[in-house]
Amino acid sequence: MIEARALTKRYGDTLAVDDLSFTVKPGQVTGFLGPNGAGKSTTMRMIVGLDRPTAGTVTVAGLPYRKHSAPLCQVGTLLDAKGVHRGRSAHSHLLALAQTHGIPRRRVDEVLDTVGLAGVAHRRAGGFSLGMGQRLGVATALLGDPAVVILDEPVNGLDPDGVLWVRTLLKDLAAQGRTVLVSSHLMSEMAVTAEHLVIIGRGRLLADTTVADLIARVAVGSVLVRSPNATQLAELLVARGAEVTGVDPGLFQVAGLTAEAVGDLALAGGVAVHELTPRRASLEEAYMELTREAVEYR
Ligand code: ADP
Repeated sequence: MIEARALTKRYGDTLAVDDLSFTVKPGQVTGFLGPNGAGKSTTMRMIVGLDRPTAGTVTVAGLPYRKHSAPLCQVGTLLDAKGVHRGRSAHSHLLALAQTHGIPRRRVDEVLDTVGLAGVAHRRAGGFSLGMGQRLGVATALLGDPAVVILDEPVNGLDPDGVLWVRTLLKDLAAQGRTVLVSSHLMSEMAVTAEHLVIIGRGRLLADTTVADLIARVAVGSVLVRSPNATQLAELLVARGAEVTGVDPGLFQVAGLTAEAVGDLALAGGVAVHELTPRRASLEEAYMELTREAVEYR
């Protein structure tokens, strides 16, 4: 469990995180989303005590990170895959961490196996590709067999195989009852990985919800309408407060009314309708709608 309460971080004039409260529960993957600059990394750094909040609190497994006597065994993190001594092998890197945290030596081989690096365990980490570096980062996060796993943009720079691997791993970790928080700026990727979403923009909480709820709540569906009297029908609909955008002559899109309402209005107005197709918004559209105001750079 991760619990943030009124968490705030100010860097000079920049309010990076603004009065943020959320809870990340065990047994599911929680996606942490927001446009670039939304405050995701800052929040994650505060969770593990690398940044001190200006105000508010955050606890992991019931305690502030610094209060855990063996934090690596409570919370595993991947914040920066390049945070490895370049001259050390993957094995030595993990062994050094294990030996300073009372973690048995065999656990090093276990996690190297899990992330698929057993074959290159004794090669210099400095020579690793981006994908191998990410895998080593994940191995480091899992080393202490922690109940809470926090990964910042773990699929950045991975090839499709690597992306699939991370997706499966995250779901497995959640299925084992762990708390999994994973950040991304890509909704499409979270749509297939996470069950729960915490979405922020300009440091503020925009949504703390399930994937299904987000679509139902935020996304505006639309209806595609084809009619031989399109102009007349469009006027009728606009008079009822709908938003009409033309697609082709005789074909337009209506937002703000259901397909049933469009059909009923056409009948009442004596206008023929040749097609009436409701369109559900995708999760990506819901996310775009939600974060539209909060995008720092366009
Ligand atoms: P995200 O991870 O969502 O892309 P960040 O947490 O990296 O967002 O950044 C949030 C905001 O805080 C941005 O405007 C960023 O420029 C600013 N920021 C982040 N870290 C620092 C820092 N160490 N010093 C000053 N500003 C920072």
